[in-house]
Amino acid sequence: MTTPLSDAVPTIELNDGRAIPQLGFGVFQIPPNETERAAAVALETGYRHIDTAEMYGNEKGVGDAVRASGIDRADVFITSKLNNGFHEPEVARKAFAKTLDELGSDYVDLFLIHWPLPTLYGGDFVSTWRTLEEFKADGRARSIGVSNFQIDHLERLAAETETVPAVNQIELHPYFQNADVVAYGRANGIHTEAWAPIAQGKVLGDRALKEIAERLGKSVAQVVLRWHIQRGNIVFPKSVTPARIKENFALFDFELEPGDAEKIDALDKGEAGRDGPNPDVFAYVPA
Ligand code: NDP
Repeated sequence: MTTPLSDAVPTIELNDGRAIPQLGFGVFQIPPNETERAAAVALETGYRHIDTAEMYGNEKGVGDAVRASGIDRADVFITSKLNNGFHEPEVARKAFAKTLDELGSDYVDLFLIHWPLPTLYGGDFVSTWRTLEEFKADGRARSIGVSNFQIDHLERLAAETETVPAVNQIELHPYFQNADVVAYGRANGIHTEAWAPIAQGKVLGDRALKEIAERLGKSVAQVVLRWHIQRGNIVFPKSVTPARIKENFALFDFELEPGDAEKIDALDKGEAGRDGPNPDVFAYVPA
């Protein structure tokens, strides 16, 4: 199960034995009618892992791009996520069927609970997780995981269910390194996927990062993405700009020296560096 999907990018073995390319392409905030084009550029560049979500409204564009590319479905790793309004088991089952329909595929490689929503549904994300276990058991989700889960949410799944999530997809970049959640994952076989790996561009003007990038002859985005790769994070930077899509893929012909990696480690601002919502209180349900 560790056969590379593409030789260009290393794969990581998940706790269920399946392999995920460590670098992928994220499509959050890409309008539905632009997604097929952007994903096509990514696939041409060599990406074989795309991260979408029902909430992004662009699963269809991802599926269309994969089919139009002529690349075997089995050679592209596709992740999608359960939207916040769909946590009740019967609703989750219908939403998952719709995700597969939009993707035009009879399976998804990885399916995640997008947010834990501990203040909604009576705090019950456990039944939602059990519903994802059904999707894994029937083979329509090859792997299942969670996103934006805090340690206490993960502990609850461990205490009350059978399946350890394959991944936890969380906000993680140099200014917010989410160290405790990452450490819990590492200790419990849950791989960390880093969303907003370049903080949606907010780290790109950083003086320390610019100094490293200039010295290595790389862009700041490449330095930060390489830092993620060396830490073992799974990343999928988003861009609609073909030159950036290509730049973000060119991470495997250089390495950060330990001293430079440590300088980036030192940029962590802890909770103050969090840019997105706090999962403990986030309760957004799209209309
Ligand atoms: P990113 O950290 O990937 O940043 C994307 C932004 O950076 C865009 O504005 C893009 O601009 C710009 N950019 C990309 N590459 C470069 C570059 N080389 N140089 C300069 N600017 C660049 O943010 P995202 O929030 O998109 O995170 C990545 C992915 O993570 C998402 O697409 C999604 O798949 C996932 N995600 C998951 C969440 C969750 O709750 N589970 C939440 C948020 C994201 P442009 O497109 O104009 O080129």
